[in-house]
This record gives sequence, structure tokens and C-alpha cells, in this order.
Amino acid sequence: MPADYHTHTPLCHHATGTPEEYVEAALRAGLTAYGIADHAPVGETYFDDWRMLYDALPDYRAWIEKARQHAKGRIDVRWGFECDWLPDCESWIERLRGMRPDYLIGSVHYLGSWDFDNPQWLGRWAQTDVEQAWAQYWKEYAAMAESQLFDILGHPDLIKKFCHRPQGDLRRFYEPAIEAIAISGCAIELNTAGWHKPCADAYPAVEFLELARAAGIPLVISSDAHAPDEIGRDFAPAIELAKSAGYTETLRWSEGRRTAEPLP
Ligand code: ZN
Ligand code: FE
Ligand code: FE
Repeated sequence: MPADYHTHTPLCHHATGTPEEYVEAALRAGLTAYGIADHAPVGETYFDDWRMLYDALPDYRAWIEKARQHAKGRIDVRWGFECDWLPDCESWIERLRGMRPDYLIGSVHYLGSWDFDNPQWLGRWAQTDVEQAWAQYWKEYAAMAESQLFDILGHPDLIKKFCHRPQGDLRRFYEPAIEAIAISGCAIELNTAGWHKPCADAYPAVEFLELARAAGIPLVISSDAHAPDEIGRDFAPAIELAKSAGYTETLRWSEGRRTAEPLP
């Protein structure tokens, strides 16, 4: 099985499990590598209630170290952050990069001050123009790619989480983003968590994946696990989906290098 680089820890306040449990689950799933990428702090002060605090960074390092110790000689452990693409975030992302993670995942969870994927604000969708929200989401997604600050671009298509989709062919949104991503050289993830959300569809949809493949954009497969038993979840169908879109390999990160590995 490919590596799973997008998994969380309880430090973000909405995930469960111990480092040992995650390592054991990653071994059971037969993953090539276990990658820890919890929700990064945004600056040094409180930002929202679903990410680690800046002051928890030493605890994060300790968590990763525990996982490494437990995994020693059995599975490759890598770490990074899932970072939020926000206005004027660039210098902060550089700070996170300065902590020498193996990789950084960039995600768009916010449109302005609204974390649109947060079930707490679901009601806000009733007052939202879906066409406009999609346009804004994909514009931000393209800008995030253009920033070149990230190695992996997280869950493309998250905007559909609660089944809000504009009418018609969605490739009008996908195509400009694909173009920006292809130029950036960043990888995208096929995130299996979407299958377990109201949209019941992978992030991204197969139409996006086919365009990405045609544009030569590299791929990783991720579970976005928030509990140990979610590690590597649905990787078999994800591999089938990636192959159906024309993909033959995924990426690995080790010792600061990105290499390709054939899909099983
Ligand atoms: Zn999360
Ligand atoms: Fe996310
Ligand atoms: Fe995540």
C-alpha cells in the first residue's frame, strides 16, 4: 500500500488515539509510510478551536518522536503539517517550513472568515450562493498552488462536502485550478475521507482526477485519519479510482527527496 501522509493527532482537539495505536494501525494496513500532518497553528495566538495551539508544538514533536520509537525498524514515520491557506499566510508558512518538516500539506478550509467545512456553521450555506462559493474556493485553491509553499495540496473539492454543487459541468471550475497546480509542480491528494462525508464522494471527483492526470500532476493517496482505525482507510478503492483516471504511481518523501513509487 502507498504511504498515508495525511493523518491527525489529538492535539487538534477533534482526533483520538495514541502514537502507538496509529503505528500499529498503519502496520496492519500495510502502508509504506505513516505520515503525521496535524492542523498547524496559525501564528502564535489562538485562531480557532480545531487546530493545535502554538504552545503545543513541543507536544507535537514529542508525539512524533513516540511514534518513531514505536515504529523503529518496522515502518517509515514522516511528519509535516496540514496548513491553512489564508490571506497573508506566506511568512507564517515559511516559519513552519523552518521547523524542517518532511512535507507541508496546504488546504483551503476558509472562505474569508468562514470555515465552510465546519459542521458548526452548516446553516450559513442556506445564505450562500453556491456558484459564487465554488468560484471563490477554486480561485483560492489556484492561488495556494501558485504560492509554491506546499508539497501536497489537500483534499481538492472539499467545497462539495455537504453536497453543495453548482449546476452543470463542474470542469469550468476545475480547469483553471488544474492549470495552476500543473505549473506549480505540487502534488495533489486523493483523500478518501470524502467517501465518509455527506457528499459520499472522494476528494477530488473522478472528473478532476482525470484532468489532473492529463496535466501531469503527481498524486498521493491520503486517509485524513482522525482516529487510528481510519489510517489507510479505503486505499484499495482509491487505488482503483486513481488507476481508472490513468495514474500509475504515487509519491514518497524521504530524506528531503520526493520519489515516485508504482501503484500496487
Ligand atoms: Zn481535522
Ligand atoms: Fe483538511
Ligand atoms: Fe486533515
